Amino acid sequence: MDNCLFCKIVRKEIPAKICYEDERVMAFHDINPVAPVHILVIPKEHIPSMNEVAPENAGLFGHMALVAKQVSEEAGVAESGYRVVINNGPDSGQVVFHVHAHVIGGRALSNLC
Ligand code: AMP
Ligand code: ZN
Repeated sequence: MDNCLFCKIVRKEIPAKICYEDERVMAFHDINPVAPVHILVIPKEHIPSMNEVAPENAGLFGHMALVAKQVSEEAGVAESGYRVVINNGPDSGQVVFHVHAHVIGGRALSNLC
């Protein structure tokens, strides 16, 4: 996707603080962190939101969950706790339409709703 911000990060056209990368997934630090640890885990494949996730993406999303676990450990929040959030659509506040999981921790987090 030519104009997708996160596809540009995948292609290394825009710099990011990348903390994990393999052939399917990338993780990098959020540019506007809401907590001491705020990492985004994305598929390299352009999938706009959870609404477009298909059964054949099940392995990819399982892998993203394992990468979220790994980066939480490496960031030192696995024991203190963290939240994994995927925003979808207008009411969630999603602004980048390349699906991504926020890994947020390093402070006590308030209730979701
Ligand atoms: P969402 O509201 O779920 O779509 O979240 C998008 C996230 O992307 C926000 O937390 C932004 O701070 C983050 N973001 C936007 N641009 C960049 C960038 N160039 N590098 C890293 N994170 C970014
Ligand atoms: Zn994209």
